[in-house]
Amino acid sequence: MSAAKDRLKVLVADDSAVYRKLVEQAFCEADFSILFARSGREAIELFTEHTPAIVITDWVMPDISGIELCRRIRAGSPTSYTYIIILTSVSDKENVVKGLAAGADDYLTKPFHPKELLARAEVGRRIVELHRQVEAKNRLLEELALTDSLTGLPNRRAIDEWAARQLSGAARHGFPFWVVMVDLDNFKSVNDSSGHDAGDKVLKKFAEILKTNSRRSNICGRIGGEEFLFVLTHADKDNVQFVAERIRKEFEEQEFLFGGRVIKLTASFGISGFQGKKAPEFRQLLNQADAALYTAKHRGRNRIEFAPSE
Ligand code: GH3
Ligand code: MG
Ligand code: MG
Repeated sequence: MSAAKDRLKVLVADDSAVYRKLVEQAFCEADFSILFARSGREAIELFTEHTPAIVITDWVMPDISGIELCRRIRAGSPTSYTYIIILTSVSDKENVVKGLAAGADDYLTKPFHPKELLARAEVGRRIVELHRQVEAKNRLLEELALTDSLTGLPNRRAIDEWAARQLSGAARHGFPFWVVMVDLDNFKSVNDSSGHDAGDKVLKKFAEILKTNSRRSNICGRIGGEEFLFVLTHADKDNVQFVAERIRKEFEEQEFLFGGRVIKLTASFGISGFQGKKAPEFRQLLNQADAALYTAKHRGRNRIEFAPSE
């Protein structure tokens, strides 16, 4: 049997002490952890507190009916699926339809066969576990879709999403917002002289330097080949210049050993910023940073240029 904390929780709601006992007996050897509610209201409280994987509910209860309980569980936005079985003495088909329409997954009529109840709970376990697997996969896919696989940094899409939110916050609360675009200098020569793997190592190293220089209120990521973005908020121009300068210097001083040769590289930076009441599109700031970056390249590389402020 699995440890109690790993066991699936089953919430049983029934106002009849006899039926609660019968359900308890049916589950006495099963690998579930059972909670009992004596009324609909108590069921809702326990549900909120424990988010059980399976709910087995009576149909008729004095305060909140099993149907209403189903509706409330489905109307909430739980992070995981709850499998609901209605236990009822109301067995005409119209009511069965009503129960399923209210969100129940299954129903069983009283008096029930204990092994059948258990077997149906096991069906519930399969469905819940399937849901959990799908949810975990989805979370993983979502994360992958936002991550650059080479460096593990956020990718362009992740930065776009983050920046759009921060940009409207910057306009609302009046804090400054900066976009630093970085492009490694003559990077192609690393690939050409030392191979693609060497190039990848350089990209990873630069990502590491970026990451150690970023704070919780910032985001840095790789947006393409040897281009990176660093978006900062709540910093003034001197701050931003200071951070960019530190990154530039750290990278410039880094020595790479490829094929017995020491190689050093540099990067160029273009920076644009915004502070005010009306936020521009993020894309606009990117274009300005890109233009400043072009200037930095033009003026000899390994330098930082700010876009002209408007
Ligand atoms: P500049 O100073 O003008 O930026 O010159 P550059 O050589 O850095 O720029 P260019 O755009 O000419 O070359 C970029 C190179 O980056 C070309 C491409 O093969 C390489 N590259 C793009 N993505 C990757 C990658 O994931 N890994 C490696 N190793 N190289 C990459
Ligand atoms: Mg380059
Ligand atoms: Mg480039």
